[in-house]
Amino acid sequence: MAPRNSSGGRLPAANGDEINSFAVGCCLCPRLVDYRADNRAANPDWHNAPAPPFGDADARVLIVGLAPGRLGGNRTGRVFTGDAAGRMLFETLIRTGFASGTYSDDGHDDVQLIDCRITNAVLCAPPGNAPTPLEQATCRPNLVALIGEMKRLRVIVTLGDVARRNVLRALGLGVAAMSGGHGVTADMAGYRVINSYHCSRLNMNTGRLTVDGFKDIFDRAREGLS
Ligand code: SF4
Repeated sequence: MAPRNSSGGRLPAANGDEINSFAVGCCLCPRLVDYRADNRAANPDWHNAPAPPFGDADARVLIVGLAPGRLGGNRTGRVFTGDAAGRMLFETLIRTGFASGTYSDDGHDDVQLIDCRITNAVLCAPPGNAPTPLEQATCRPNLVALIGEMKRLRVIVTLGDVARRNVLRALGLGVAAMSGGHGVTADMAGYRVINSYHCSRLNMNTGRLTVDGFKDIFDRAREGLS
């Protein structure tokens, strides 16, 4: 299914290319497949399918979130597009030179990523934004494959603890290889991994994550490329 926005129109393709078919049709997680079906029944013009990565496989920076939000990637078909977290992420990427253009919540925009790519640890939207450990493990081969195809990858930014743990496991490491916390950084398995608090509306509204604190993560990512 081609990604669509809330009004049913096709989203612009990433960087002028065809949006890829990453995990299209995957039905390995029964609970998430049921949730997709429920959302499709209620909102047939939404994407309601695995949200594929956005950005070029040649990128040197990979950003890994938790999972598509019901009203975000699940609705629009483009990761981190359609909700407050996406707005925060894309605006910060534009500020730090990892994206150009202007972001729009409906995905009908001209945003282009620059030397970075965005995905989620779990490709399908989970109820309550909470994928189970089994669902995370089931989807992890997609993350392993995605990292493996990025031959120039040098920096991985993890947004939140679920993303951090899944990236560490995808790299063949134990979750204790790198502690949580905003700005925690480690060089391992050939990559620099930088952990950030998730740019969720909750974290922004409570002040746990600030605009400048989030920008600092991507300034560090830039340093990791030099
Ligand atoms: S979360 Fe991943 S493994 Fe599970 S159904 Fe979706 S694409 Fe498949």
